[in-house]
Amino acid sequence: MLETFDKDREGVVLRIERSSIHDGEGLRTVVFLKGCPLRCQWCSTPESQSFQVERAGENTYGSRMTVGEVMREIRKDSLFYFISTGGLTLSGGEILAQPEFTLALLKNARMECINTAVETSFFASWEKIEPLLPHINTAYVDLKFFSSGLHQQYCGVKNQVILDNLLRTNQLEKCPRLVVRTPIIPGINDDPRELEDVGRFCARLNWLDHVELLPYHKLGTATYEKLGRPYLLGHVPTPAPEQMEACRNVVRRYVKTVR
Ligand code: SF4
Repeated sequence: MLETFDKDREGVVLRIERSSIHDGEGLRTVVFLKGCPLRCQWCSTPESQSFQVERAGENTYGSRMTVGEVMREIRKDSLFYFISTGGLTLSGGEILAQPEFTLALLKNARMECINTAVETSFFASWEKIEPLLPHINTAYVDLKFFSSGLHQQYCGVKNQVILDNLLRTNQLEKCPRLVVRTPIIPGINDDPRELEDVGRFCARLNWLDHVELLPYHKLGTATYEKLGRPYLLGHVPTPAPEQMEACRNVVRRYVKTVR
């Protein structure tokens, strides 16, 4: 019988997806946590933003679960993690909005030799981020805009704390593999000057493994309807593959590996 650290601690979980191939390397179990301080206008999981379990019509979004209950789900695929070099990915919402719950899940996974990845905006105090880092193999950090004005306009908050936290990783002796992700939203942040700023900034990160540019998509629109919320970017097209490659080439002037 495996001992589970902090097993009775409760958190709010949106959902758990098994066998994902999109959220890190290999086959992964993705635990989506609820609660996010940002309000990105293109957010594909608007049901993750509220910190509470949410009801809209016949749908219920999220449930309270203990660390022990989540770990039982994660362990179901332990064998596949080792075969596929996959593992656990914590995503959101924003994982840093439930730092103790996140820490307990990461610690348990690592104690059981399960590879760990997180998807985060880094929008939190450094005091919440630093204790998590020794338990993470790969950190996917979103840098949605370099321009603080655009970040405020389209995500609801300024980005200075995100930039500061990314730079603070330079002071660490050991840091997770760092991947910076930027969504490309045509007409909003695909301007070469904005992308050059992203590239220049990422080139300053000592622990950077690579940058990923992700094409904007509208996958969450049906959920906005269910929640009775407007989707403000309905007029924005998904970027074509050649547009994405042009954006990557701008960032490649500063960063060696851009995917
Ligand atoms: S940070 Fe992620 S979860 Fe939060 S609003 Fe933005 S896209 Fe949605």
